[in-house]
Amino acid sequence: MSRRTRIVMLGPPGAGKGTQAARLATRLGVPHVSTGELFRHHVGTDTALGREADAYMRRGDLVPDGVTLSMVAERLTAPDAAAGAVFDGFPRTVAQAIALDQQLAANGHALDGAVLLEVPRDTLVARITGRRFCAQCQATYHLEWSPPAVADHCDRCGGDLRWRADDDEATVARRLTVYETETFPLVAFYETDHRLWRMDGLGSVDAVAARLEEVLARD
Ligand code: AMP
Repeated sequence: MSRRTRIVMLGPPGAGKGTQAARLATRLGVPHVSTGELFRHHVGTDTALGREADAYMRRGDLVPDGVTLSMVAERLTAPDAAAGAVFDGFPRTVAQAIALDQQLAANGHALDGAVLLEVPRDTLVARITGRRFCAQCQATYHLEWSPPAVADHCDRCGGDLRWRADDDEATVARRLTVYETETFPLVAFYETDHRLWRMDGLGSVDAVAARLEEVLARD
């Protein structure tokens, strides 16, 4: 089992980063730091940061780096992040990646590397449009691959299932374009430093999780 504890999950929307990051973080005993989740929490609780992020998120655009970076910097000062973190949806720009390296270095740490989950584009759209989450406990489902036992209700707490406001087809198309132009350059950024692991993101959640463990155990 890998002792790497500072890992970025990289890949397009719908690649399965969130599902795998949550599992890996639990296994490693470190927090799952999802900037998308942090932003959705701010939007849901109507903070000033949430009001600023909301318009960008609705369009499928990136929230400006300054806002994103101060939110992540604050999250990383929490005691639970001292032992590491699995980053999901962050960094999304080269400037964010540089800032992450700098913040970790300032605390005597370094990123172990980034895992790129590779999934073909047509599969991404199918994965995203079938996604549902519980409005109460945030558990995630997929109508085709991991449906709830009772339609529209959470298996865990019985809460209502919803879909994300930005998971409609038009916004998904925009998010994929933004990924290609703004986030994909991170592949070269991490590859140049020999900090990139590429892996096939197709298959069941368990199969991808097993593949991820193999990748992280490599020298
Ligand atoms: P996600 O849940 O990772 O798909 O993120 C949902 C939305 O939150 C994105 O489409 C962006 O609008 C915003 N977002 C999440 N993470 C970042 C980030 N690292 N930089 C800028 N915007 C982000």
